[in-house]
Amino acid sequence: MRKLRNSRLLVLILVFVLATSICTNAAPVHKDIFDNVSGENIYEHIEAMAYEDDARMTGTEGEETAADYIAEQMESYGLDVERQEFDIVSWFDGSASLEMISPETKAFDVANFQYSCSTPGGSITAEVLDCGLGYPEDFPADTAGKIALISRGEFTFAEKVQNAANAGAAAAIIYNHSPGPVNGTLANPSEIPALEMLQDDGLYIIGLLGAGNTVSLSMISECSIDYGTSQNVIGTLYANRGKKSHGTIVMGAHMDCVDSPGANDNASGVAAMLESARILSEEKLAYNIEFAAFGAEEIGLVGSYQYLDNLSEEEFNDIVAMINLDMVGVGEAIGVMTVEEDANSFVADLAEVYLDNFGYPYDRSTSSSSDHEGFELSGIPSVFLDYHEDPYYHTDEDSLDKIDQNNLYRIGCLVTSMTYDMAKTPMPESFNGIKAKVNKYKSINKEFKAD
Ligand SMILES: [Zn+2]
Repeated sequence: MRKLRNSRLLVLILVFVLATSICTNAAPVHKDIFDNVSGENIYEHIEAMAYEDDARMTGTEGEETAADYIAEQMESYGLDVERQEFDIVSWFDGSASLEMISPETKAFDVANFQYSCSTPGGSITAEVLDCGLGYPEDFPADTAGKIALISRGEFTFAEKVQNAANAGAAAAIIYNHSPGPVNGTLANPSEIPALEMLQDDGLYIIGLLGAGNTVSLSMISECSIDYGTSQNVIGTLYANRGKKSHGTIVMGAHMDCVDSPGANDNASGVAAMLESARILSEEKLAYNIEFAAFGAEEIGLVGSYQYLDNLSEEEFNDIVAMINLDMVGVGEAIGVMTVEEDANSFVADLAEVYLDNFGYPYDRSTSSSSDHEGFELSGIPSVFLDYHEDPYYHTDEDSLDKIDQNNLYRIGCLVTSMTYDMAKTPMPESFNGIKAKVNKYKSINKEFKAD
């Protein structure tokens, strides 16, 4: 558990929440809204979305079927439902291998860069050249048709591979500039196949070349790229208390999954969100609440960034907080997370206040690997809530039978209470003041190990 920060405003929040909790003997400010939460309802939503293996893989029919289900549920609660479609590129990793054929035989441990294309005709056998850091002037005049060996560093993998393609190379290999694997991405599909290699192996080949050897390699890169569509399902509950809304609270959860049933990751988060939507839709609130089921999270948080990109400046400035639910059905403790350790997030701090009051085990930490990332990086106070650890994460074992209904109930209580209390009456000006409007969101340059 971490200490709360941002002292003055937090004291305000604490006094506000704790004072009322003394009266009601529980956390919520207004009433025990959590009495309405049903763990069974949440479980049934998961059952409806995680019924088989590969249930809702990004861009597949399964994801669309889940979107239909979510939209139907939201409509039944009277929410105004919008479906945002967008294009996606899905890259699937196959196999990667690299062997030296001359002057000696040796196999190397390599991996495909994310978004690499496949070696044409199955494999490439060619001479390899030392192409330095991969600047355009680093490629020897006879690069055409050969394999370019490039060192990591100074600029992006994608630019290095593109420079190699421009020089006519048949393929590129980038070796690390420090120990350990690269785990790199090219961000977009490449023109020529690209492998990553450990530092020692790269330097070994450079050594052979430096000694005047001609070095031939045989490489296989097997990947596939699919172009498709995904979507977000946004259900809006409009404020209906007083004359106007005081802002918008976003509750989000991604609906797509990897090649698994995706029960915990993340039918659970969507299910908890739906239950919260059902309960809150019966209340008179001062804030709009947007319940967002994001698509294409698993291929790089694409849906949530699309959502942010689609907002007008006015809509963006209207958002006062974001709560992200991802993997809430398996594990012992609730995680309260922000991207940055020192994030200015009243909503994350508020979650801790509730958890202390409810007496649920939790810890506070950092994570950027879910849909709250874009919101927090664009200055919206955000929190990512999960349960951890999930030993079945991203495996075929991520199935309904692993879900703990008690976890579902607790998360349901937490988010419903928090959101209700935030949305019920206009928050003190200081709450809005906490919102760090660092910059109007334009375009976050998301670089995941891109160089
Ligand atoms: Zn997830």
